[in-house]
Amino acid sequence: MPILVHKYGGTSMGNIERILSNARRIAADIQKGYQVAVVVSAMSGETNRLLALADEIDPHSSGRERDMLASAGEQVSIALMAMALHKVGVEAVSFTALQAGIHSDPFHTRAKITSIDTSRLREVLDRGGVPVVAGFQGVTDNMEITTLGRGASDTSAAALAAALGAERCDIYTDVDGVYAADPRIVRGAKKIERISFDEMLEMAGAGSKVLQTRSVVFAKKYRVPLQVLTSFEDKPGTMISEEVKEMEDILVTGICSDKTEARITLWGIPDQPGIAAQIFEGLSNQGISVDMIIQSKGQDGLANMSFTVTKPDLSDAVRVTEKLIDTLKARQMGVDEKIAKVTIVGVGMKAHGGVAARMFRCLADKGINIYMISTSEIRISVVIDEDYTELAVRSLAKEFDLVDESVEEKGA
Ligand code: ASP
Ligand code: MG
Repeated sequence: MPILVHKYGGTSMGNIERILSNARRIAADIQKGYQVAVVVSAMSGETNRLLALADEIDPHSSGRERDMLASAGEQVSIALMAMALHKVGVEAVSFTALQAGIHSDPFHTRAKITSIDTSRLREVLDRGGVPVVAGFQGVTDNMEITTLGRGASDTSAAALAAALGAERCDIYTDVDGVYAADPRIVRGAKKIERISFDEMLEMAGAGSKVLQTRSVVFAKKYRVPLQVLTSFEDKPGTMISEEVKEMEDILVTGICSDKTEARITLWGIPDQPGIAAQIFEGLSNQGISVDMIIQSKGQDGLANMSFTVTKPDLSDAVRVTEKLIDTLKARQMGVDEKIAKVTIVGVGMKAHGGVAARMFRCLADKGINIYMISTSEIRISVVIDEDYTELAVRSLAKEFDLVDESVEEKGA
């Protein structure tokens, strides 16, 4: 029998009524001939509440104890979900990560799944029951409880779907899918019906927060389609799957914007081998990751270099870079926090030329200046002045046909 994994996020587990409604949906999928395994998050707000208690004692409290505490939220959810399934006549057994065999590395609060031993879960599935597994948790070889990072129950679900060889992993949440642009910025933004793993990964890297990136990495590696859909209404969501030919017919699948980065520029650095290596080794030694980089030739055998880092890393990055100014004999350094990265993503770019030109023309027509550009085979990102973010996203959404005109007019 085909296996489905259902994952319920915090809002979908928000109260008993919602939990019972999820149980009825699970029962319906079993009726349709599926075996269903369930992964749940803590009830909405619960993980924050628990970690706030820890912070009241000490924001730097031990990772082991923080994990012991935070993992409790999911333990509440699995028990309630199992009881709700019993109530609607479905056999169900709750499992913590330890019981479910979700093994992780020992890095508390940010552990990574290393393997899943599904034998106990399969026993339940094979007798027609539903294993209800705690998301977010892992267990080390020494039987220590870990957590996998905030928002990681998506990743637990994708990993479990992979381990069980599931036909699909349905991620139930409070939005009804992935949108081609943020509907809070673009009124009438279209919902994406189907998107490839690679496009979704580019979207996540460009600021889309619908799914935890690691969950998409798992799904891609093990070729398990993910569906993002709402638990509040009965309708299809967005399918994230391997690329199919028809996806190329659409030039641009989605647009994202990201205001979380800042730019550092060094003017007048020597144009010779080893300089870039010095700068970026210095940053990487401090655990700072760099997103976009531009180098251009200046005058007198000198070059200019700009790069972006996330705002929380900015002060550390400035410190590292300032130290290098003397060694590199750079002329000047500048910092700009008022920038935004705007990205368009689409596998259609592989087959069709001219997308970049259309993007830049569209921005130019609105008088928006481009500071930096970076591309991949299926993505174009530009850095612009933060004040123009919304205008850029709206104009590009129109340009690439990502707005549902009827909704737009009705709402206007
Ligand atoms: N409950 C955890 C969190 O709030 C995991 C999750 O919801 O994905 O981060
Ligand atoms: Mg979540």
